[in-house]
Amino acid sequence: MKYALVTGGSRGIGKAVCLELARKGIPVIINYQSDSDAAQEVKKLVEAEGTQATLMRFDVGIKEEADAALLKWEEQHPDDYIAYLVNNAGIRRDSLMFMMSDDNWHEVIKVALDGFFYVTRRLLPRMMMRRHGGRIVNMASLSGIKGMAGQVNYSAAKAALIGATKALAQETASRNVTVNAVAPGFIETDMTRELPAGELKKLIPMNRFGKPEEVASLVSFLLSDQAAYITGEVISINGGLYT
Ligand code: NAP
Repeated sequence: MKYALVTGGSRGIGKAVCLELARKGIPVIINYQSDSDAAQEVKKLVEAEGTQATLMRFDVGIKEEADAALLKWEEQHPDDYIAYLVNNAGIRRDSLMFMMSDDNWHEVIKVALDGFFYVTRRLLPRMMMRRHGGRIVNMASLSGIKGMAGQVNYSAAKAALIGATKALAQETASRNVTVNAVAPGFIETDMTRELPAGELKKLIPMNRFGKPEEVASLVSFLLSDQAAYITGEVISINGGLYT
């Protein structure tokens, strides 16, 4: 059986991706870091769609935690593999760079970039060995394309993720593993709750923030058979807000 792993699946965009995959009947592994109640709620919602859900707590930025959780799952599922990986976990710790602390720099890079590296490296061999291949979608950001003042750390992490997406796509294409990135603009989640929405909406041609479900349907398409010939791409979803 082919499973999906969604990192940061307990809230926001990751939660919407889990529910979208559940509707397609793909068994979902919901990763999260700390919010067990929110993760439990997503599990219930996935199961309500008649689809299997597994909770998997680990910090994507800590290699030992990621390895231990994934090894345990692999031992319990010798005939299955994770064919769909959505590297979605992310945080922001905004400040102007001249005031940015070491922690705020390293934490953001750790979750976005180390997280991508540890989880993806672990899953790649199985994906590449199987005839049906795999699909990887990395959650980048408009900040990684355009750069955003106050987000030098976040913009650097997301730009690096885009570079990694393009490089890995070339390594895995012949093994039927596609690797793409999605670059959302402003999406209504906990991450953007404290931003001045009224001011920011004036900058967005569609005059609104996006919904997590709108990002989830793009991710779902990139994970589908219909997207088999798309790889190494960065797809923006931002209501016309560009660069
Ligand atoms: P969110 O609502 O804040 O949710 C973040 C999710 O990531 C939560 O499930 C959280 O788990 C998980 N997470 C955080 N650190 C983690 C770690 N170290 N290990 C494992 N899981 C971790 O964020 P969101 O807005 O949905 O963002 C999802 C992704 O989209 C991020 O990569 C973000 O950078 C990107 N993005 C968002 C926007 C936007 O406007 N919202 C725009 C562009 C890109 P817990 O619940 O356990 O804390």
